[in-house]
Amino acid sequence: MTLLAARMGALGTENAFRVGDDIARCIARGMDVVRLNIGEPDFDSALHINEAAIAQIRAGNSHYTDPQGIPALRAAVAAHVTRTRGIVCDASRVIITTGGKPSIGFTMQAYVDPGDEVIYPSPGFPIYESWVTYVGATPVPLSLREGSGFTFTAQDLAARITPRTKVIILCSPSNPTGGVLTQDEIAGIAQVIRERCGPDVRVYSDEIYEHIVFDGAVHHSIAAEPGMAERTIIASGHSKGFAMTGWRLGWAVLPTPEEAQIFKQLNINSISCVPPFIQEAGRVALESPESGPTVEHMVSAFQGRRDWVVSALNAIDGVQCQVPKGAFYVFPNVAGVCERLGILADYGRVPADARARTSPSRMLQGFLLEQYGVATMDRNSFGRIGADGEHFLRLSIAASLERLREGVRRIQQAFDDRAGWATYWKSANSVSAPTASALR
Ligand code: PLP
Repeated sequence: MTLLAARMGALGTENAFRVGDDIARCIARGMDVVRLNIGEPDFDSALHINEAAIAQIRAGNSHYTDPQGIPALRAAVAAHVTRTRGIVCDASRVIITTGGKPSIGFTMQAYVDPGDEVIYPSPGFPIYESWVTYVGATPVPLSLREGSGFTFTAQDLAARITPRTKVIILCSPSNPTGGVLTQDEIAGIAQVIRERCGPDVRVYSDEIYEHIVFDGAVHHSIAAEPGMAERTIIASGHSKGFAMTGWRLGWAVLPTPEEAQIFKQLNINSISCVPPFIQEAGRVALESPESGPTVEHMVSAFQGRRDWVVSALNAIDGVQCQVPKGAFYVFPNVAGVCERLGILADYGRVPADARARTSPSRMLQGFLLEQYGVATMDRNSFGRIGADGEHFLRLSIAASLERLREGVRRIQQAFDDRAGWATYWKSANSVSAPTASALR
């Protein structure tokens, strides 16, 4: 008998949090680190939302609530979904969770048996792949095409659907690519699902970046397509759009009230309920007329930074950066840089067991952080399966323009520093540097 259950070996992680330890080590060594790794707005939650929570605490609203979520917030979510997706939705189908993340695991636990297949975008939010393997399902990554704004076609999806397909995960706007599916693309995807999947197949539509779309675009949900509301779990929350990451407030709309009850049961078995004062503030975020301008101000700041960062990155030899249409990330292709610095050749010489733990872009990520004080995320942090040969970094643009300029300045220097790479790589492989992040 071993200490840990075997299934723990199948659980992945979110490296954006793990990199925090590497950053702390750099700071302890006296380095200044430009943090472009974490996926959270650099804006604070708005005053009117903060005040709403404080007032609730003062009023003594500090007890357990309905594990499905307080009726007033569920009604506000239902009204928001009806207004923004143009579909009929009522509070009985809504579940309130601690952030957007729990619904991913709830979906896997509720619908997926070992051996079922789950299709998910790759690169994509790493927690998808983590839960798919954890529940013993077969992961079926759906590659996003760099050349077409990191989207995929209905044919790409059709080629991955089999009789064992149980859940199809979509994420638009996308983390980490910033790709946004157009209404036409969504209509084509919905048609394939209607034609090829039985009524028990569920679409998990991760819409957590619904508020953050650029260039006047409008967010589209697959749930709005004919016949799709009854198959789609819409998952979103307050973390990104309302800059409330630390509040831990999210929601999902299930196809039926009965399925919402299953999610409620999962809440009961894990967290019981989301704190009531947080839910009340979340209702204010959705309903207050003050929220719209706050969100717009933040999105327009992200768009301005995006414009600057994309052109600055594209000016660097060996970097190709697509223009993201939403979320707050850029996802440059750094294959040319990996080649020029000699990283691809060095990776080829890494022993096979260590090679499985790293990748060229992970090595570049380690170099950028430990030598130049810029924290980024590598390609494999967004799904490892099928990612071989893809060399990208994700940079969060949720940092001030001043810090972004400093970060890009250092990146430009690092990407020309072949000698610096060689020295770093030698020391990362020495016995005295067993924790070098490039090798983990
Ligand atoms: N889904 C996607 C695509 C995300 O990028 C994130 C957070 O980074 C989440 C879900 C989880 O959000 P939350 O912090 O609300 O749990």
